[in-house]
Amino acid sequence: MFLSKSLIPILKNIPSEAKIKSHQLMLRTGMIKQSSAGIYSWLPLGFKVMKKIESIVREEQDNIGVQEILMPTIQSSEIWKESGRYNDYGEEMLRIKDRQNREMLYGPTNEELVTEIFRNSIKSYKSLPQLVYHIQWKFRDELRPRFGVMRCREFYMKDAYSFDVDMDEAIYSYNKFFLSYLKTFKRLELSAIPMAADTGPIGGNLSHEFIIIAETGESKIYTDKKIFDVDYSETKISKDSLSSLRNKYDTFYAVTDEKFNKKEFDNKVIEENKLITKGIEVGHIFYFGDKYSKTMNASVDNKGKKEYVKMGSYGVGVSRLVAAIIEAKYDDKIELMKWPINIAPYHCVILPQINKNDKSNLEKSINIYNKLKSKNIDCIIDDTDETLSSKVKKFNLIGIPYQIIIGKNSGQNNFEFGGVGENLSVYNVEKIENIILEELKN
Ligand code: ATP
Ligand code: MG
Repeated sequence: MFLSKSLIPILKNIPSEAKIKSHQLMLRTGMIKQSSAGIYSWLPLGFKVMKKIESIVREEQDNIGVQEILMPTIQSSEIWKESGRYNDYGEEMLRIKDRQNREMLYGPTNEELVTEIFRNSIKSYKSLPQLVYHIQWKFRDELRPRFGVMRCREFYMKDAYSFDVDMDEAIYSYNKFFLSYLKTFKRLELSAIPMAADTGPIGGNLSHEFIIIAETGESKIYTDKKIFDVDYSETKISKDSLSSLRNKYDTFYAVTDEKFNKKEFDNKVIEENKLITKGIEVGHIFYFGDKYSKTMNASVDNKGKKEYVKMGSYGVGVSRLVAAIIEAKYDDKIELMKWPINIAPYHCVILPQINKNDKSNLEKSINIYNKLKSKNIDCIIDDTDETLSSKVKKFNLIGIPYQIIIGKNSGQNNFEFGGVGENLSVYNVEKIENIILEELKN
């Protein structure tokens, strides 16, 4: 792929409407384009990153045995009236009328719709647990959409739902998601803290928010630093193993503003372990028992007894994660970004110095491009006629993890190569290939 032929509208200046670094960077590097307030188009660079995040989120759902489905974005108001949330949800819900004057809405979340699917499909306790997820656009008419895709109105979410015969089984399902979220965020190179949280409009009695530390986050958090040391690598998918993991986390003080209690904080956390900072919510899990199953009559036959199923729901902000990862990784002082290689829009950029009468560097670039491509290494060539130093600067911002420079220091098969923002060394293509493939393996 040539930069000159791609839809990557780089901006020279920082757009004045962008207040936080992720929003600035996403606009500057042409990842997204606003179409109206809180509504964005995803251009190739941004879309590639989001799709890769989506695949990781998907794999980790599949790993705990959740079934993927796809529910529509537009829902009927009927089921929301059944659950009693049609009025409760308030102005965040975008309400629409169709040509028959039927009340429809753009789904802000899917508890009702999935419960309706469940009650029509599952009759016996023998079919439980049922765990399903979908990855779909949501719409919430946020009062103050801001910070780009961090808090927008139309956003991409993975939401999962669990149906179990009793509370004990339901907590087991909840804990599976708890572990899978820790693994998902780890693979995105984020350290997310699970924090006991309020259940808000979803309702219910057990909930954790997954929060990553970032200065520009909207949630103030109070936590015990020790929570970062909890090791979950040995956790098995079994009731005991998962509940002991939950216990380990839940013993540490970790709350957002809403739940903060100074006395408790002082009692539970020694001075040097106190961490008061800000964070971004990237995931949220809930257990809410029979809140929806009762009002919507979703039950199973449990050996002759009618049992309202116990439910939970589990969200990950897939589009918000793109911005959250930038907040965690982008150094705006030196204007340097490095995407984790597994979600980077390209693995490597080739930066040839191009002179008017001499196209040999461009030819070398195409050669390298083809060699790397045959090993499934995805590159982009900056074939514009800018100077090398301005190309490097531009790509330090875009954050492609590796750079190959084809200039006066390169030979027939020796090129300057290095990680973005790092010192360069001279290598041949085979060596470059190995370094990138090695990192992709981890
Ligand atoms: P917030 O407190 O940030 O409004 P929420 O509690 O309303 O979030 P949930 O209903 O739990 O969010 O949704 C699951 C996830 O979807 C959140 O953890 C977040 O990552 C993402 N999300 C929620 N609202 C937005 C939004 N307006 N823009 C982008 N992502 C969002
Ligand atoms: Mg919200």
